[in-house]
Amino acid sequence: MSSQQLVLKQRALLLDALCGGGSAEPLDCVLDLLLAWEVLIWEDYLIIRVTEKPVSSNARCLLDVVYEKGEDASGLLLAAFKQVLPEEQKSELCFGKEYAVLEKNRPATATSALLTDRPVLVRKLRDNIHEALDVLMTTGCFTIKDCDGVQLPVYTPSQQVRRLLDQVRFKGETAARTLLKYLDQTEPINKEHQILEETKRFTASPDTLLYQKKLRSSVAAQSHFLSTYGGTGRFSLDDIYTNGLLEVMNGCGETTTLELEDVVGPVGILNKDADTVLVSGEAGNGKSTLLQRLHLLWARESLLTDIYLLFPFSCRKLNTEHRVLSLKELLFLHCCWPDRNQDEVFQFILDQPHLVLFTFDGLDEFKQGFTDEERHCCPTQPVPIPTLLFNLLQGTLMKGVMKVVASRPQAVGPSLKRYLRKEVHLKGFSPVGIDCFVKKQYRDPGMAGRIIESLQGNSALHSLCHIPVFCWIVTKCHQELLGGEDCIPQTITDVYLLVLQHFFLRKSSQPQGALRKGWLEQHLDTVLKLGQLAMEGLEASCYVFSGHELQRHGLTEHDISIGFLIYCYDMSVTDSKRYEFLHITLQCFFAALYVILNRSNNRSDIPKLFLSHRQPSGLSPKFLGHCVDCSGEKDESKMVEKPDLQITAQFASGLLSLQHRNLLLDCCPAALRERRVKQVVKSLSKAMQRHFKCIPGPVEGEKKSMHAMPSFVWLIKCIYEMQNNSIARDTMAKLDVEHLKLTYCNIGPVECTALAYVLKHLRNPVGLQLDNNCVGDVGVEQLLPCLHNCHSLYLRNNNITDEGIRKLVEKGVHCEHFQKLALFNNKLTDSCMQHFALLMKSKQNFLSLRLGNNNITSQGAEQLAEGLSCNRSLQFLGLWGNHIGDSGAAALANALKNNTEIKWFSLVDNGVGSAGASALAELVSQSKTLEELWLNKNFISRDGVECLIKALKMNSRVKEVWLKGNNLSPEEEQELKKEESRLIF
Ligand code: ADP
Repeated sequence: MSSQQLVLKQRALLLDALCGGGSAEPLDCVLDLLLAWEVLIWEDYLIIRVTEKPVSSNARCLLDVVYEKGEDASGLLLAAFKQVLPEEQKSELCFGKEYAVLEKNRPATATSALLTDRPVLVRKLRDNIHEALDVLMTTGCFTIKDCDGVQLPVYTPSQQVRRLLDQVRFKGETAARTLLKYLDQTEPINKEHQILEETKRFTASPDTLLYQKKLRSSVAAQSHFLSTYGGTGRFSLDDIYTNGLLEVMNGCGETTTLELEDVVGPVGILNKDADTVLVSGEAGNGKSTLLQRLHLLWARESLLTDIYLLFPFSCRKLNTEHRVLSLKELLFLHCCWPDRNQDEVFQFILDQPHLVLFTFDGLDEFKQGFTDEERHCCPTQPVPIPTLLFNLLQGTLMKGVMKVVASRPQAVGPSLKRYLRKEVHLKGFSPVGIDCFVKKQYRDPGMAGRIIESLQGNSALHSLCHIPVFCWIVTKCHQELLGGEDCIPQTITDVYLLVLQHFFLRKSSQPQGALRKGWLEQHLDTVLKLGQLAMEGLEASCYVFSGHELQRHGLTEHDISIGFLIYCYDMSVTDSKRYEFLHITLQCFFAALYVILNRSNNRSDIPKLFLSHRQPSGLSPKFLGHCVDCSGEKDESKMVEKPDLQITAQFASGLLSLQHRNLLLDCCPAALRERRVKQVVKSLSKAMQRHFKCIPGPVEGEKKSMHAMPSFVWLIKCIYEMQNNSIARDTMAKLDVEHLKLTYCNIGPVECTALAYVLKHLRNPVGLQLDNNCVGDVGVEQLLPCLHNCHSLYLRNNNITDEGIRKLVEKGVHCEHFQKLALFNNKLTDSCMQHFALLMKSKQNFLSLRLGNNNITSQGAEQLAEGLSCNRSLQFLGLWGNHIGDSGAAALANALKNNTEIKWFSLVDNGVGSAGASALAELVSQSKTLEELWLNKNFISRDGVECLIKALKMNSRVKEVWLKGNNLSPEEEQELKKEESRLIF
């Protein structure tokens, strides 16, 4: 078959290979190669790679363009796929005959070298992008604006490099030559470094090499399958792994999106002297799976290629190690035993710490909270496991070995934060990720399509699917979901009841559907036994159970075979089988079932559950231990939250919702259920009261505001699980604030659903500040039910796109109180400006619109201006860091002339020149309200400023015009300042 036919025939597979992982990286790599091989010319590239369009549409365009170019181009396209795709994806594709890439003469110009060497340049520049930008800035090739454009935090490091290369090419030959010269200079250092590394590698003895092979193969075997699928059909990680959203924050609070390989890379380092990288994320966000992927790719030598030995640890398994061990014993006993020459292998580890990586999964599940009180630095002296672990994390022991630790954020207190090299946040699936995951689960496109459609039709369920473990359950239970006459699940308790039913149904000999009535009662015995095991496990931070413990709880082979418990695969040498729950959230769910369904008369179980989300670290955890209190009598630095019990409390609330009343009544007497409902309501109310009491009184002249703690979000989620409006109303009646601040609280779509459910009952509107979370478009949609109760909405840095704005404005125009919106640093383009224009036209009481650091050009500004010209109320308009340019500035200035309220207007860093400034001068001269105009970091020269001065002479109301960083010499600035003191340079 010809290459052209192969491209056509395999179109779906090729598209899937390019877009299936939810990342644009494979497409970009293929494009790099095709540019280098001159299959594509620069103009083709510009047509294909349009960042405003989805990756899938870019990929389709690529296939079309190459197909049109004929047989050779198609052959080279397949060759590029072969080079870029990982082994497991290649097996599905046929690449046809080999196409050799012809050796070309060296390109005549530096700009063409940027294309022919593009794949190599991308690799080289990834680790020194900042230095390269510095060089381009200091040589005058780049402006600050160019640098900012390259480094927008929405781009991954590789994408930033490609933007840099594109921009250099656009600037021309001098810039290209400067960049290549810089790279030439750094080359020898890199080469030297490489040689040094190579030499080090060769010092590994044959026995160490043998050990590496053994370790690689045992890590590969362990990480090949996804363990949660153990009982329910084995899924290879390659088939199911979907990229999650990974972000890192720099010291200034700006976030950058990362790829998997960047987890241990240089991006986002906060403390160069530390060796511990934290991957943090809520339960079920995919931390263990991410580590598993890293392990597998290392074992296959596809990632972390400079790491010689990788030792994976699980903290839940370390809990079961009661012996005192030396580091040497820990490595060899728990990971991989050297068949020969132990001492030599260990010496290699000691001598080459930079070639070694340790990973620790589930630090939050480690029995003991982190402390740095005990120092230990001897690798051969046996000590208790916590001492070993904590000293490794601090770097007292084995300084230089890179450590990657995964944990829920609640378990990482300030004492550990001191030792972190960087913190990577794993935020679950994006909407594209959810679709990818479903398609990977169901290779039948019809079925996948139906599931995606049903998810999109139910926004509460869709929002749950942003958390991978819920996404897995929801897709697992598709039969119940698609065919269900029952209500579609809304809460996580609904979802977990669905999976409970699904597992029992799978095991049942009865025909499908026969399980429905009384199914929980029918399996109550198993549920209670598992529940007790789960609860006792949580009490003791125990997540791994021996066969003996199972027996003690009366669990039989049949109970185990239902699938909630799975074998715990372990590299360490143990003689008995051990088990764990499919996922920690499932253990919490069983614990909640036990608390709610057991018939004992213990009245304190529920209240304690709601009091017990903190415990001092270092103490052995006691069931439902210490309450949160604001008195501060305990040492805060030693307090860590206990997220397991919070999740359990959430499930307990959900089980007591009215919706599940009938199901529960089969299993638990009505009076007992009622008593437990009352207890939950009372406990929730008390916990919330305690939280409200922490709110400081208003500072004079400021609004009364509450900076909520993560535990506030947890309590809100419990209320949502109960699905009881009157509880939500009663709770909110006691909240008396004007501003509710929930920044950096890991608020995703799920949390937005719960927040809206409760906040819609507020008596008076509040300002809702959700900056620096991961709300996204789905989260925005979830917030709509409480929008009428928000006078301001702050959503800075939240991954929101034009689609989210469409929905927000659709609702916002009908909300009387809604007056302020801040959307700094999202993913907005010109396409959403028509919606803001509508907002401006429709709401004549709207006060403030801030859209900084998005992707708005002059076209978008013109659309906004159209709406603004009909608006009389807007006081603050911020467009900092967009690409409005002169024509956009002129359109906005013209529109604002009629506005009778505008006080503050910012066009900082928007490519505005003197033409724009002279249009703005008209606004300055005519406005009766304008006080501040911000024009820093633009290209305004003397003529423009003179227009502004003239205008200022006519208007004494304007207080300040900011002009720092424009096209003016220091002398000009001084001179102009003398003419008009309200200009600020
Ligand atoms: P965490 O460690 O954060 O609690 P896990 O990694 O155990 O979460 O994820 C729970 C389940 O969610 C996994 O067993 C798997 O079914 C699913 N999952 C998580 N991350 C991914 C991913 N990247 N791709 C596919 N499935 C995933």
